[in-house]
Amino acid sequence: MPRLTIGAFARVTRLSAKALRHYDELGLLRPARVDPFTGYRFYDESQVERARLVVWLRRIGMPLAGVHEICELYGTEPAAAAKAVRAYWSRVEAETAARRDLALFLVDELSRPDEETTVTTLMIRHAARTDRGLVRERDQDTACAGHRLLAVADGYGTEGDRAGAAAVAALKDLDRAPGSTAPGSLRAGDLLNALEDAVDRANAEIGGLDGSGTTLTAMVWTGSRLALVHIGDSRAYLLRDGGFFRITHDHTVVQSMIDAGTLTEAEAAGHPQRTLLLRALDGGTDSARPDLRLHEARPGDRYLLCSDGLFTVVPDETIRHTLTESPDPDTAVDTLISLAHASGAPDNIACVVADVSLLRELDPAS
Ligand code: MG
Repeated sequence: MPRLTIGAFARVTRLSAKALRHYDELGLLRPARVDPFTGYRFYDESQVERARLVVWLRRIGMPLAGVHEICELYGTEPAAAAKAVRAYWSRVEAETAARRDLALFLVDELSRPDEETTVTTLMIRHAARTDRGLVRERDQDTACAGHRLLAVADGYGTEGDRAGAAAVAALKDLDRAPGSTAPGSLRAGDLLNALEDAVDRANAEIGGLDGSGTTLTAMVWTGSRLALVHIGDSRAYLLRDGGFFRITHDHTVVQSMIDAGTLTEAEAAGHPQRTLLLRALDGGTDSARPDLRLHEARPGDRYLLCSDGLFTVVPDETIRHTLTESPDPDTAVDTLISLAHASGAPDNIACVVADVSLLRELDPAS
């Protein structure tokens, strides 16, 4: 097989000689031969393909450890390599979405003048309810809507109800009446930190509940934004300008299979491991990492927080239709729970519906 000098190989692969030496040291791309006297590196033409793969993977920002893994897979199982790249890219997109929200928020914070001339204040109206359903003996779901806090939790295990209640109770400190100092006046970073601390406290408490755990999907209202904390497979949806969006990502085995392209949404619905959680508040350290985000609210927004007892039996399109047609949050919650009952209600159901509207526009100068 013809051998290429490092210079020729660098030209063909668009990798610098320096990068090639580095990849050699890392074991990522070993030269076919190193001259024992001069130390010159020589490459086989057959290595060009692997080198190009390295270049492409680095261009999409993959860390070297991941590149190594994909290159090894590519040699033996190209389909598995493709799957691994897809899984990496869905993780990047999910992380980018979370960072984009934070970046937009920072831009907004930094460009806001010290003395605001106009303060737009939004208000929320809400309704919250849980229902045992038609099959389960106990209701282990929790739903809460306070001055500023909207939350649902879906407990599991023998003390699942206590786990869910503990998770929601931990956030209650952040639920102050409008006009009080916190959390509306908290800086965004402080609020997210406070949420993270509250979740950590809840998780430590749940650790004492003998194998029980809970999901948690909650929003804390700051007056114009919603700080979102989410772990597990309960969900938050947004109805805005006629569009219906899911704004949380399920931490489940089937969702990770959908992300990796090995399962379709339709197949996931009937999957036997549908309820297997990758992350939950279960007292663990690795498994209890919630997603934290800031979400900009707009007048006219309608939010739904719900446990899987709703969305596994009521199709998204029916949920969207109900949210669109219901005149107020109470009606929406009641209708959604009736719909779950009409589909057999095999699980507990938790629902919170919240409407955002314009309270008033204040001009501090007047
Ligand atoms: Mg459930």
